[in-house]
Amino acid sequence: TAIRTPLIAGNWKMYKTGTQAVAAAKQLADLSKGAQGVDIMIAPTALSLPLVAAALGENSPVRLGAQNIYPGKEGAFTGEVSGEMIRDAGADYVIIGHSERRQYFGETDEIVGFKIRAALDAGLIPVMCIGETESQREADKTFFILDKQISDGLKGFDLKELDSLILAYEPVWAIGTGKTAGPEQVKEVHGFLRTLLKEKYAEDLAAKIRILYGGSVKPGNIKDLMQLEDVDGALVGGASLNPEDFNKIIRF
Ligand code: PEP
Repeated sequence: TAIRTPLIAGNWKMYKTGTQAVAAAKQLADLSKGAQGVDIMIAPTALSLPLVAAALGENSPVRLGAQNIYPGKEGAFTGEVSGEMIRDAGADYVIIGHSERRQYFGETDEIVGFKIRAALDAGLIPVMCIGETESQREADKTFFILDKQISDGLKGFDLKELDSLILAYEPVWAIGTGKTAGPEQVKEVHGFLRTLLKEKYAEDLAAKIRILYGGSVKPGNIKDLMQLEDVDGALVGGASLNPEDFNKIIRF
């Protein structure tokens, strides 16, 4: 993992007003001072991005991400936010294809692909979320589903374009449930994903892409997860809302 700087990312979902987001981000910036060898990202609502960006300042080690993006440059798409707008608001990253968006907003692998394209066009780093549901795991379809999400989501991209891509493996049954996938399960899936990237693309790209784990990550389980060879960080929901907890996770 030496060539991959770990990334700890916090997905704040639809929590925190702008005022609350600014306060939490400032507290996190303070607490996380001096943390070495780790990239840090938080994703507040799009509405809070400019406020938090201004509060943190341009050179803060705490970087920002959006939780979603519209797959188009601009236009008559009421209620949507483009990559350029996200970039201009001060974010470097964007989370794409989160299971909540797949589940509640009909996001398909094809849409995920369009959104990754839009992110790259805007100079944003896409954090592509994939993961199986509980019933898919029980039916032994985990690898099949992950393969499909990657193949269909990344259809048409060439090697060079995927240089900045980050993958987040988030078993749907472990998100917000308090159930973390066990180290054996995580190790198995992350190993599978690394091999898949190697076979589909190239060895050096596979070695470069960071694969995050997500699903009930907490201060108490981050250490064991980060010890696994192919785990290059975490995407954290619930525990990222509390700056003290998130700071402990950053310092795995
Ligand atoms: C998430 O939403 O990406 C997530 C992993 O949530 P939680 O940490 O709350 O399970």
